[in-house]
Amino acid sequence: MPSIAIASSVSAPKSSLSQRLHEVGLSQEKLDPWLADLRQSLQQIRETPSQGAGFIEETICQRCRELERHLLQDALQKQADSVAVMCPKCVHVPLTGRWRQKSRPLRTLCGPVCVTRSAGYCKKCDDHYYPADARLGLSGESTASPLLQEVSALLVSKMPAEQAEEISQGVCGIRLNDASLARDARRQGERAIEIPPLLQQVRSDQTPAVITELKELLPTLTAAQAKKVNTTVEYYTNNLHRMKYTEADLRNEPVWSGTIESTCRQYQCRMKRCGQFWSQQGDEALLTLTSFWKNGYWDKLFPHAQLASVSRN
Ligand SMILES: [Zn+2]
Repeated sequence: MPSIAIASSVSAPKSSLSQRLHEVGLSQEKLDPWLADLRQSLQQIRETPSQGAGFIEETICQRCRELERHLLQDALQKQADSVAVMCPKCVHVPLTGRWRQKSRPLRTLCGPVCVTRSAGYCKKCDDHYYPADARLGLSGESTASPLLQEVSALLVSKMPAEQAEEISQGVCGIRLNDASLARDARRQGERAIEIPPLLQQVRSDQTPAVITELKELLPTLTAAQAKKVNTTVEYYTNNLHRMKYTEADLRNEPVWSGTIESTCRQYQCRMKRCGQFWSQQGDEALLTLTSFWKNGYWDKLFPHAQLASVSRN
């Protein structure tokens, strides 16, 4: 039996790895062919003298992605099934009307999955909802999973979508289409614009609150980021008596803060590439994404990024 190698590595059969995998949705019927396929691939590498550690690592990564896809599919469906069909906007209002089960295909870093969930009608809102979508954080009509949305936003904020497509297979283990990358990144950039930035608070004369928020961020920052934030806090504190933007706006005076030339330089290597043209909406979305990344606000846009230290530069 192909599963013996895994099961025999632990002493108590009741807590065997295969049994634990079964408990999280990976049945023996799925595990056995997967193990056989992996064993055959590794055997082929052993018999091919020109294939070394890189081939072994890549093969295991590729095969494990399929295993991850099964686990993700099962976990997402269980999460969707556990959600009560209540209005996600009103408190304790059950949804009524025609109950529908509809499948939602999702592109993920592990490959395609599909979640089936129920819809209902809220009389109070006069609207239909899929409560499981709200619970899973699946917004709008996007077919990209939250993690894939994050990766798309990060890649496209660093390079053109065509280049991102070329490196996606090597970096993510899955080839991402340039049109989907650009669309997902823009969607996330537009979402980022909706999150009120600290600058907006400065412009509405709430600088003391901004100073407090910046100080609270300090423990979460790297030494280099903390140094910059301390400089900003010192600048804002020393110039608080001059920062009267509301009054200046009323007098139609041009106002701004910070070192503009230096800030422009940090963005232009992405924005001013040869042959690139931007719509105002498109470039604002991308600039906002880049600012969120540079300012350490990435997890405000993608809360799951707190789990991955790779999301901080
Ligand atoms: Zn409602």
